[in-house]
Order: sequence, then structure tokens, then C-alpha cells
Amino acid sequence: MPPTPDAAQAPSVGPDRGRADACPGALRLHPAEDGHLARLRIPGGQLTHRQLLAVADAADALGDGEAEITSRGNLQLRGLAGHCAADLAERLRTAGLLPSDTHERVRNIVASPLAGLDGRGTGGSRILQWVRELDEALCAAPWAAALSGKFLFALDDGRGDVAALDADVTLIAVDGGRALLRTGRARRATAVDAPVPAALDAARRFLALAGGRAWHPREIQHELPEGDVPLPPFAGERPALGVLPGGPSGGSSGGLPGGLSVGLRFGRATGDQWRLLADALGAHAPHPARLTPWRGVVLPGADPALLPRLADAGLRTAPGGPWEGVTACTGLPGCGKSLADVRAQAARAVADAPAEGLPVHWSGCARRCGHPVGRWVDVLATAAGHRVTVDGTVRDTEENDTAEAVAEARNAQWRRTE
Ligand code: SF4
Repeated sequence: MPPTPDAAQAPSVGPDRGRADACPGALRLHPAEDGHLARLRIPGGQLTHRQLLAVADAADALGDGEAEITSRGNLQLRGLAGHCAADLAERLRTAGLLPSDTHERVRNIVASPLAGLDGRGTGGSRILQWVRELDEALCAAPWAAALSGKFLFALDDGRGDVAALDADVTLIAVDGGRALLRTGRARRATAVDAPVPAALDAARRFLALAGGRAWHPREIQHELPEGDVPLPPFAGERPALGVLPGGPSGGSSGGLPGGLSVGLRFGRATGDQWRLLADALGAHAPHPARLTPWRGVVLPGADPALLPRLADAGLRTAPGGPWEGVTACTGLPGCGKSLADVRAQAARAVADAPAEGLPVHWSGCARRCGHPVGRWVDVLATAAGHRVTVDGTVRDTEENDTAEAVAEARNAQWRRTE
């Protein structure tokens, strides 16, 4: 009985180390079926009002009119013409989104999206400082340019959200300005006094040890030293959609700016939706917006009265509901490997058989790009329809039957019953 695919087993996780790292960037566009693709690294997911507008304008002027958040909290533009690379680069430089040409693909840093906003976590706004310091240190280190374009740093404020992403190097804030440093999927961590230099050093030591044999620490985990601090299970809790505790800036909750948290269906938003998000953040916002690796956007200090307007524009503004946890790979027409337009299929399934429960990920091929971690329902396109897998139970469906099967799998009607 095959298991539910997970991060350790799905074939999409590891790169093909027989080839050069072909991960796209802002300067290295990737030719796809629907035009070229650019991936913009957004350390900590942080985007100012001006940068949100720059992304919206670039998507409209150069791409297919949308920008999508990736599972590392970065952004992708699709449908780009191959000759627009210089124009795109200039727009990004002007907006402050391309500080290094040589290191632009290695600035993969996720951070707890609510750090310093809701009073939880021990790291607080210190995490934002870590993001800045790590980004600057990465860009200043010549050796760091050799990291894979998918090498991920996670900076967790202590609540165990991004620590659950199993990044390549994870820092978890603890009291006293210190952190626990975890490399790959080690079960133990090391307490460090200087978190950012320690994270950078862990990446450098991995590169030296790997010697080109591996792109991620997990691939040579048994060769890496483990720390001496046992790690607890990480909650992996995502920011709830809606109004953030704390209320608007200057509110009564101890100076927390509060704000709004919204979700994007399949992580994509049109240029106009990105402009609306910029409006909600405000031109003079003291804090940048934060993209989340769960395809959401946190808007610190945004006025709760704006929530209905965001909902009317097609953004998810409340937790729960059948769209909760629904993800899909690019599929057709953007990916030539796909057997189907899985996003359209997933949207139809949500409409035809609404369900809540386990996350569900739709994939056009066995690579399962962008799949979640933990327990999830796997929907894989096949020639006849789909293969639906959860907790080791597999059902092959014809397309007309898939929505119902997915709904049953999500709400546990046939989990562990066969
Ligand atoms: S079909 Fe989907 S899972 Fe397969 S390579 Fe394309 S985007 Fe990735």
C-alpha cells in the first residue's frame, strides 16, 4: 500500500544533480510553454507599497498579467517575452528588488510572517533584522553564489511555523537573542549566540562537505553533525485569514500594528489585485507587506474595514471553507510536462464538491511541484482522470468522479478505512 506522498518521498523534492542548477531567477528566465518565467526572490516575503506596485506593473506590462507566490514565499512572473529580460531587470533594480546580479537566485529566506505583529513568538521583530542581515551577508559572500537556487533559509520567531517547512538551514528564536540552528532535517539543533553568522556558516560548511554531490543538506544528512538540543514537533501553524489581533496602528493592544491577512487562490493575483493589496497596505505604511510560503499576504497595519473590498476582488479573507489548503502545480498550459490543466480542474472540484479537511494538492505529473509538507491528499493527473492518494490509500478516478473522491479523502471518509 503506497504511503501518502510526503516531502521525503515525493520525487519532486530533489534536483537532478546530474545537471547544472537550472532554477530560474530574475535575470535567468526559464522558457515555459506559456512564455518565459522569472522568479523574484523576496527575502522574508517583505514587499513595500512601491514594490507591490512595481510587481503589478511588471506583470501587466511584461507578463501574463498575474504574479504568483511560490512555496518559498518568492514571486513568479509568467508569460514573459524572451526579449524583456533587460526591461524586467531595470524595473526590479529601480524598485530595490534586485540588489545583486550575482546572488539574486540564492536569496531564499522565509521568515515567520507574523513576527512582531501579534505578540507571539520569542523572536518578535528581531526576525526582520535577521532577514536583512542574512540577505546582506549572503549577497556579500562570493562562495554563497554556488548555493542552489532552491536552497532555503527559514527564520522562525519561535512559534514553529516556518520551522515546519524543513528548510535547508533553520534558525528558531529562543530567549536572550539566541537561536537554535537546525541543518536540513536533523532531529536535534545547536544553540547559537550569533544566529545569522551561524546560519551562514552552516550553509558554507554544507557546500564544502557536499563538494557538488548534493544540493540540499537532507541529501547527505547522515554526514552532517547533529546538534545536542532535541527539537519538538513544529506546529506549522499558518497565519489565520482575516483581521490580525492588535487592530490598526496605534490601537489598544500594546502597540501591535495588527492588520490583515489574505489568501490568494493558487497563490496567484492579477495586477489589479496586487495594486489593491498595495492600497490596503498604504503608501506610507511603516511596515512592508509579507508574502507567506502558504500563498498568503499579511498587511501589517491595514484597516480591517478594507476586508470586504478585498473579498469582493476575489481574495480569500476568512479562514476555512473549501479553498482552504487547495494547491496545484502550474499544469497546462504553463508546463509542457502536465497531462491536464490541474488548476482549472481543482477549481471545478471545489465548486462541484466543496469539502474541508486535509490539504489537497493537484499535480499534472509525478514531480508534484509545490506540494505541501505533512499529511495531504495527493491528486495526480493520469491519462484517464486522476490518481487520488491519502494515507497510503489509492483510488484511480475518471475525471467526472475526481471531485467527489477528493472531497471524501479530504474529510477523512476513506482515510485509513481500506
Ligand atoms: S506538470 Fe506540474 S508537477 Fe509536473 S513538472 Fe509541470 S508544474 Fe511540475
